[in-house]
This record gives sequence, C-alpha cells and structure tokens, in this order.
Amino acid sequence: MMQKTDSNLSQATTKEAVTEQQVLIAGGGHVGLSFALLLAHHGIASTLLEKNRYPVISPTDDRTRSHYLDSRNTALSRRTVQIYQEIGLWDELQSHACRIDTVQISEQGSFGRAQLNKAEEKVESFGQVIENAWLGRKLLLAAQQEPLITLIDGANVIAVEQHVNSVTLSFNQDGEEQNEQQLQASVLVACDGRDSSVRQLLDIGTTTYDYGQSAIVGVVETDKPHLHTAIERFSPAGPLAVLPLTDPEGDGNDAHQEGYRRSVVWICPKGEETQYLEDDAHFLTTLQQGFEQRAGTFRAAGRRGAYPLTRVLADRQVVGRCVIMGNAAHTLHPVAGQGFNLCMRDAHVLAQMMNVQVLRGDDIGNTQLLQRYEKARKADQKRVIRFCDAVVHGFTHTNPAVKLARNVALVAFDKLPNIKPLVATYAMGLKS
Ligand SMILES: Cc1cc2nc3c(=O)[nH]c(=O)nc-3n(C[C@H](O)[C@H](O)[C@H](O)COP(=O)(O)OP(=O)(O)OC[C@H]3O[C@@H](n4cnc5c(N)ncnc54)[C@H](O)[C@@H]3O)c2cc1C
Repeated sequence: MMQKTDSNLSQATTKEAVTEQQVLIAGGGHVGLSFALLLAHHGIASTLLEKNRYPVISPTDDRTRSHYLDSRNTALSRRTVQIYQEIGLWDELQSHACRIDTVQISEQGSFGRAQLNKAEEKVESFGQVIENAWLGRKLLLAAQQEPLITLIDGANVIAVEQHVNSVTLSFNQDGEEQNEQQLQASVLVACDGRDSSVRQLLDIGTTTYDYGQSAIVGVVETDKPHLHTAIERFSPAGPLAVLPLTDPEGDGNDAHQEGYRRSVVWICPKGEETQYLEDDAHFLTTLQQGFEQRAGTFRAAGRRGAYPLTRVLADRQVVGRCVIMGNAAHTLHPVAGQGFNLCMRDAHVLAQMMNVQVLRGDDIGNTQLLQRYEKARKADQKRVIRFCDAVVHGFTHTNPAVKLARNVALVAFDKLPNIKPLVATYAMGLKS
C-alpha cells in the first residue's frame, strides 16, 4: 500500500525507472522511519520501502495495544531522546516512556556493586524506557503526516543497480514477482535489518559471532515500586536487567497501581529458553533468586519472547551510492541497551552531512561524502561494539580470578572519582 500519495507508484511502472527521488530508504523499522524523519527535518525528501504491511492506525486513537504485562520495550539513551526532541517528536513519545534516574549494577553472591545516581551525575535522567509499540506507532504516524516522506509498504527490495550518478532499486509488492517496479535516486540507505537483502545484493560480507545465548524479554510486576531505577544483575543464570516502565492507558485494566511495572531482559544460554518462556512460576522464581529483594517480590509476569543473539557486523557500510545503516550495519548484543541508540547517532550524523551537501548544492549521494560519513562513525561504533562484548564476556566468565577482578572493577568504578561521570556520559550516548 502506498501511503499518503500514490504519485510515485504511478510513475514506478514495470521495469521503468523514475528519477525524481533524492533518497531511497529500504526498510521501515524504527531506524528507517527515524532516518526519514531526520531527513525531512532538514527539508530532504525521501521514499521509504517497507517489506511488511503497516497496520492502519488512526491519529486520533492514542491507546497502545499493549496489555499491562505484555509489551516490548527499548531503553533510549539521553542522546536519542535529544535527537527526538530536536525533530519535535519527543513530546509525543514521552507519555509512554519512563525515566531512568538510578542505575544499580551488582553480581549475585559477590561483593562488587556500583550505583549511578542522576543527582550525583547532575543529569536530568540516564535515559528513558519506551514501549516499542508506541515508538513504532508515533514514528509511523509522523512519517505518514510528513509531506516530504513517501511510504510504500508491502514493498520487497529485490535488486540494486548502481550508476555513475544514481542508484536504481527494484522491488515487488507483496512478493508478486510479475509486478516488479523500479525507483531511481541519488542515494540508497538500507535499514533492512540484521539479514539485510540490500547488503547481500551489494555483495557486502559480514563478520558474525554467535554468542550461544538468547535474550528472554517480557514485563513483570513487583510488589515494590521501581522508583525509576534500572537494575543490572549478573547471576549464574546469566545477566539480568529490570527497567522501570510507565503504566499503559486504555488496556482495559485500571486496577493496577502506578509504578510497579518493569521490563525484564534476561540473557540465558541457548537451549534453556523453553523453561523460562512457558513456565511462569519457574521464570518468577529464578528472577527472584537472581535479584533477591532488590526489586521486591516478583508477583506476575506477562508473555515472554526469546531472541537468539548474534553479533553481525557489515564488512563495509558504504558502497558507491549505497549506505548500510541500523541493524543491517551492526547488530549488537542487547546486554547494555546500546544497539538502537548507536543506530540513531549514525542516522543523525548522516542526515546532518546530507543537509550540508544539499545546502552547498552538491550531490547528496556523492561517494566521497558517504565515505566521510562511514569514517566519521567508526570510532563510536567500535567503542560501543567493544563495550557490549566486554560486558557479555566479562560477566559471563565463571573463572574465580576473573570474577574477583570484575568485582574489584565494580567497586573501583563505584568509588573512584571521575570514572562514573565519564562512563555515564558514554552510556547516555552524549560522547561519541
Ligand atoms: C532483546 C533485545 C532488546 C533490545 N533492547 C535494546 C535497548 O534497550 N536499547 C537499544 O538501543 N537497543 C536495543 N536493542 C536493539 C534494537 O532493537 C535494534 O538495534 C533495532 O531494532 C534495529 O532496528 P532496524 O530498524 O535497524 O532493524 P529492524 O527492526 O530489523 O527493521 C528492519 C526493517 O526492514 C524491513 N525489511 C527487511 N527486508 C526488506 C526488504 N527486502 N525490503 C524492504 N524492507 C525490508 C523489515 O520488514 C523491517 O521492518 C535490543 C535488541 C534485542 C534483540
């Protein structure tokens, strides 16, 4: 379905290219939609192709579909919040986002612990935890209402052809092979996820690493209010995090007290998912053992989902007039909640560089420009990738010497001056 206007689709006749597009975006997940909105903020038009059909949503219906104990959530860093503020979206997003004021890190059965507090670090908050459904809904509505964005959903990208001054993208609608259409633009930005078709079509290899773990995610209720505290706990069952959540409106259940709802991310070895997914009592008991009374008593759990964890890094992020972005460029371990935030910083930088190029009257898909972008983002990307891996490997090691070292490191982190502000600044995405 072409949303908002069908002018592009009528121009996109079978196997015929159109040339009006400035930027084509393949993949309309959270990164693709955010990037289109960032471009529009700079006055740059884009056409976004999404393989799946978007749900029909009414701008006046402000409820989320989430049940009290059934939602998926993402921790947004301060920098990501700032980016959404910059493009005027944060006011819309924040009603379903919960501030993180305190971060507690500890290891079960060990002495090491550390705490970050917003007052001590003199920050407004360390970030916000938002419901994915709400984020997706608001991004989609904003994109549908933005005249500079053309959305084509049900559009599966199947071929990419590069020319000296343009790139041609072929797609079919809803997998109907006989209905192949083409669009041409100055530049193509692929945000089509971990298994990116565009990355494969461009023959870009990947470096992958299977962690041998899965992330179990879900929502729980505790008998103690969360008080805007995120708790990261390293237990023999694997790293666990509970994050504070807002209380959804309009789920038909207003009997719940506010402030007791938390998001859980639990990293377990592959093969052990079933017991945590299917057995509520086992899930709650293991959580309780892991957290002891830090979060109070875990008294209810919603439906859980499991995500196998693999790190996938594209060997290159720029080829000719094509850029690989989002999970297509780097899919990370979720232990530190950095993946989407890193993607947002990439998207922000590329949109800014493209804006400068447009203001100069230069070609927006110029390869040197795109290569400058790739180079500019290297340091931040490398640092985040290393940080995530250090947390995963450092805290899953059972060797007593490594365990002692990480506990000493946690204590040092908690006590030594100047370290906490620095780490907090990086974790909030304020330094790259
Ligand atoms: C358990 C878990 C918890 C996480 N928690 C956090 C967190 O707290 N904080 C954080 O920063 N990050 C977190 N992340 C990471 C974050 O979820 C990802 O970085 C982010 O979702 C990437 O979005 P994306 O748009 O790049 O990819 P995707 O969400 O995969 O979107 C890709 C889109 O492209 C479309 N597509 C695919 N192929 C085609 C094609 N051929 N043609 C057209 N369209 C196509 C797909 O349909 C999809 O809509 C977490 C990840 C996991 C697994």
